[in-house]
Amino acid sequence: MAERITPRSQDYSQWYVDIVLKAKLADYAPVKGCMVVRPRGYALWERIQSVLDAMFKETGHSNAYFPLLIPESFLKREAEHVEGFAPELAVVTHAGGEKLEEPLVVRPTSETIIWSMYKKWVQSYRDLPLLINQWANVVRWEKRTRLFLRTTEFLWQEGHTAHATEAEAAEETLRMLGVYRRFAEEFLALPVLAGLKSDSEKFAGAVRTYSIEGMMQDRRALQAGTSHFLGQNFAKAFDVAFQTKEGGLDFVWATSWGVSWRLLGALIMTHSDDKGLVLPPAVAPTEVVVVPIYKNDTKDKVVEFARGFHRRLREHLRAEIDDDDANSPGWKFSEWELLGVPVRVEVGPRDIDAGKVVLARRDTGEKISVDAASAPERIRELLAEIQTSLFERARSFRDKNTFKAESFEELKAIFDGEGGFVEAGWCGAVECEAGIKEATKATIRALPLDSPGASGSCVSCGKQAVVRAVFARAY
Ligand SMILES: [Zn+2]
Repeated sequence: MAERITPRSQDYSQWYVDIVLKAKLADYAPVKGCMVVRPRGYALWERIQSVLDAMFKETGHSNAYFPLLIPESFLKREAEHVEGFAPELAVVTHAGGEKLEEPLVVRPTSETIIWSMYKKWVQSYRDLPLLINQWANVVRWEKRTRLFLRTTEFLWQEGHTAHATEAEAAEETLRMLGVYRRFAEEFLALPVLAGLKSDSEKFAGAVRTYSIEGMMQDRRALQAGTSHFLGQNFAKAFDVAFQTKEGGLDFVWATSWGVSWRLLGALIMTHSDDKGLVLPPAVAPTEVVVVPIYKNDTKDKVVEFARGFHRRLREHLRAEIDDDDANSPGWKFSEWELLGVPVRVEVGPRDIDAGKVVLARRDTGEKISVDAASAPERIRELLAEIQTSLFERARSFRDKNTFKAESFEELKAIFDGEGGFVEAGWCGAVECEAGIKEATKATIRALPLDSPGASGSCVSCGKQAVVRAVFARAY
């Protein structure tokens, strides 16, 4: 039997850890807070990477690579940036058997080193825009860590763009937020709320931070991607000025944006169940697995048929076959369910005689007997149905757990209960935001982009609201 997973209803955090470990996505590393990504987890990350990378290239970006080590003084040039990151920095003070003249920071993010290079590369408006993305690891010394969601070292991508005008940079910030939203919804089947962060939640060094927020099955929010409008802050810190079209001199306008392997955590907590992983077909490393079912006297016939069928599937789909003799069909079914393969094809001797195969859906458990000849086409349709149905299920769960609160009592009652996303008026005061966090542990996740604007009163102090905010407890 496959190893038992703690049910979600019993202990949601333990359920999550069980899935990560037992579906062989990742394992704990010798250094606390670090994580080893195993082949099944890495294959999933590679799918995410390849889809996103194509989307970045479609929107005009190129990949480059900048060094892991950054002179400590660089971080100090942007006051808010260093203040925000200082507590999480890992610093190299010794190397090559000697104490270094200047300590080197292991990058927590790359704005500073990239802007030090942009100074060399940008002189005139003709050098702009610069649209660069980097796939890399970063290190942030976190006190409380959790597999994929918060680890000391993690893999991500960070886009860093430079523009001649404020309007162009502002447009780029929202364009990339849109790319993230489309990726989350169309590929991860994860409905997201896109919005602006409050000042207390924005990126250190940004003028404005936008994010996409998904709702997990325990009704907590997970920030799945961020896009920052950096204004001229980093250009000023690194003296990146350029000659404008009109012959004047101006500082360059900047954006940065990133998503990380946190997305794997989002995927797990949005779709998976007590049997294991449930993966949206669009990012599943294996879309379909063929499992032959036989006894000694039918083995040759069934395995030969299953292998031929697998070869046909492989022409258009990411398909595997499990013809390992060591395990029973029942064991294999649980194992592939644990690993989250969206469709399982069962082939037995009687099916072959009837010209049929059985398709089993991972998301609903439903089984359908179909003609073997037309099965590949039917599987493709089924994968598309699963993709849509996972998204719809997640969206209806989120909508059912999204509320409006008109008073502090209403808001508090929701968070004293099961929680969720709570939309409420906010006056913009930091004290009101902090007070709500203190009382409920909920923070402002986003000021929604499609919000109709302020109406009513602040849910905390009762004064006129200036904006609608969405509150939630978050990962
Ligand atoms: Zn207020």
